Amino acid sequence: MFRRAISRGRLSQAYLLVGPDGIGKQQFARRLAQSLLCQALGEDPLEACGQCAGCRPYLASAHPDFLFVGCPEGKREIPIDLMIGSKERRGQEGLCHDLSIRPLAGSRKVAIIDDADLMNEASANALLKTLEEPPERAMLFLIGSNLDAVLPTIRSRCQLVRFSPLSNSDVAALLVEQDLVPSREEAQFAAALSDGSLTVARQLLEPELASLRSTLYLALSQANFSGLSLSKLLFEGIDKISADTPAQRVNILWLIRFAVEFYRAAMWRLGHGATASSNTMMIPEATAFADQIATHAEPFDRLGKLIDRTITAASHIDQNISVALSLDALLDDLAGLSRLA
Ligand SMILES: [Zn+2]
Repeated sequence: MFRRAISRGRLSQAYLLVGPDGIGKQQFARRLAQSLLCQALGEDPLEACGQCAGCRPYLASAHPDFLFVGCPEGKREIPIDLMIGSKERRGQEGLCHDLSIRPLAGSRKVAIIDDADLMNEASANALLKTLEEPPERAMLFLIGSNLDAVLPTIRSRCQLVRFSPLSNSDVAALLVEQDLVPSREEAQFAAALSDGSLTVARQLLEPELASLRSTLYLALSQANFSGLSLSKLLFEGIDKISADTPAQRVNILWLIRFAVEFYRAAMWRLGHGATASSNTMMIPEATAFADQIATHAEPFDRLGKLIDRTITAASHIDQNISVALSLDALLDDLAGLSRLA
């Protein structure tokens, strides 16, 4: 779409790139910005040369005509200062001011506003003035994951571009390529749970969460485990890696999701047996569990109950019941359902 717009000279002045986190929106905007500032483009208008007087300063993060703002670290919104300067210097600095100055090096100025869905009302209104009368030769790329949080007046002045989640195989390939996983199996596991987001996959692979997952899987693989001591152990780990209750909730939901995957993998093993070729969601502990319960009465029925109970727990967490109590209740029930006579 952009290739076509550029070659026809029909670029809009403002775009709103929307899609889930961790799928490459900002990377796309940055690559596009570089090619818009490149002074030695070849046939492909999206392939910056990497060496010209536009590309070199761009790649060194020193291009005077490239502007970037995003939500500051640790803040929940983009403050107005970033748009039109601090109180003392209102209108003399900030993105809107910088955009209004004519390009210094190239033929245009390019601005990226990351987390555009986190602009507060004042910031959004300041930007709105720029969007209503964009300076000649200025281009803006707004990026956000939550379209509903962008003021309708802003939305209506941007051309909307929707980004889709990545495929699982792309996420897995990226994890391997960027050396973020110890093995291809880990990459596939994280990718399958990532909803197409590299960011989510990376969170899943955080060592602390991965270690809680191992603890959980080891316990679940032993049909006779104590639910309450496992719950205590896991909750201590969760408490350590979560800053507040919402973060605890998120991490416990991950543990529940891990447990669902565990039982699904066990179900797969029961259905396919030892002779089947490799499962895409290989969990060795789940295989061990499946082999144990296979010799007891109604293993499929048992697994079905375990999966149902685990999924129910996820909805309890969403309903604001004490997360620690929900985890206690879940693991106690799972222990009961797993126990072999
Ligand atoms: Zn170049």
